[in-house]
Amino acid sequence: MPGAAAWGHNMTSRLQKKLDSIQRLFLLYITGAYRTTATAALQVVTGLQPLHLQIQQETTYGRVARARSSSNFFTVIFSPTDYESKSSGIHIHPHNFLLHNQNSFAENHIDSGVKAIYTDGSKTDDGTGSAYCILENYGIQGKLDRSNSVFQAEILASRMAIEAASSLHRPIKIWTDSLSSLMAILNPKFHHSMVREIQTLLHIHLRWLKALVGYLNNECADQLAKEAITKGIPFLLPKPLSYLKSEIKTVALSIWQDNWDNGETGCSTHDIVPRVSNKLVGRNREEIMFVTGHGHFPSYLHRFNLRTHENCSCGEKGDPIHYATKCRFTLSWHFQTPTVSLKLQWLKNILTNNLSRTRLRLLMRFICDENTLIVEDSNWALIHPD
Ligand SMILES: [Zn+2]
Repeated sequence: MPGAAAWGHNMTSRLQKKLDSIQRLFLLYITGAYRTTATAALQVVTGLQPLHLQIQQETTYGRVARARSSSNFFTVIFSPTDYESKSSGIHIHPHNFLLHNQNSFAENHIDSGVKAIYTDGSKTDDGTGSAYCILENYGIQGKLDRSNSVFQAEILASRMAIEAASSLHRPIKIWTDSLSSLMAILNPKFHHSMVREIQTLLHIHLRWLKALVGYLNNECADQLAKEAITKGIPFLLPKPLSYLKSEIKTVALSIWQDNWDNGETGCSTHDIVPRVSNKLVGRNREEIMFVTGHGHFPSYLHRFNLRTHENCSCGEKGDPIHYATKCRFTLSWHFQTPTVSLKLQWLKNILTNNLSRTRLRLLMRFICDENTLIVEDSNWALIHPD
């Protein structure tokens, strides 16, 4: 395991083995798999990553997000300054928290003599953007990083709008279609630094902001926020903690993948499922048998010295793929032969389609029930007379 050394100072290999054996009991129990099936293979087909990696992942997150200290996971260093921090303690005493009177969920925004500002945040595959507009087609656009969330974009838009409103020194209404940011602003205990900035700003400018935030869809702000993704003024915001979590998860997956590619056990499963993921590959005993090759197959019986050779009685190598695609004894349950490069997709298609899954189950039952037919040695002796 090449990855092991890098984080070995945190978790000894002895402890890892211990955790593996604890998880193994559970994996065998939930899958009903053969006791000979390698733990690594069971982890991959169930989509349950090794326990020690899960623990390392949680520890790293806790150090960076809660303890606010730098932490390395494998070779990647996570620095707390890159991520949002949670503000703690009471910020504005609930008694003095007056924002409830300033906010409304009214849908009607026609109010003569009061100026309106619209805000919106947007996120696509290309990035994240925030915008507010005061007049139709006029507004300020903020461009955020791809890692920033829609919530951050919406909060930023609100903050920009409040700053603009306070400089106008006249009654203003700010409109947003983001219920989540509205709820956050109304919550005096919300642990988010930018939300707290907004709460403070609102308290300072209370007299200018007659009715603060409503709930409404507005096309102008929506359009500007989408454009902001490419055209906006760059804003550097710390990444959200949810992003930290997904980054750490990605590292854990790559270590798991590395161990899976270089491990000595689970080779036959690796042929079929080369990529690890947190998704379930096989859901029942028959499917796990098929994916891991640990079942009534000649290839399996031979590997564990229960047979002298690994061939099916038809003469070809008796492994799961053979029975699912080629063997003349199992013709009624055949699937189309997968191309080598698309083996995983082929398997996924089978395991996500209910009809295919039923057919696979029937095939596996046939192999169990009529095992003597496929492991008959006499035919093989005729084909290979030495
Ligand atoms: Zn055969």
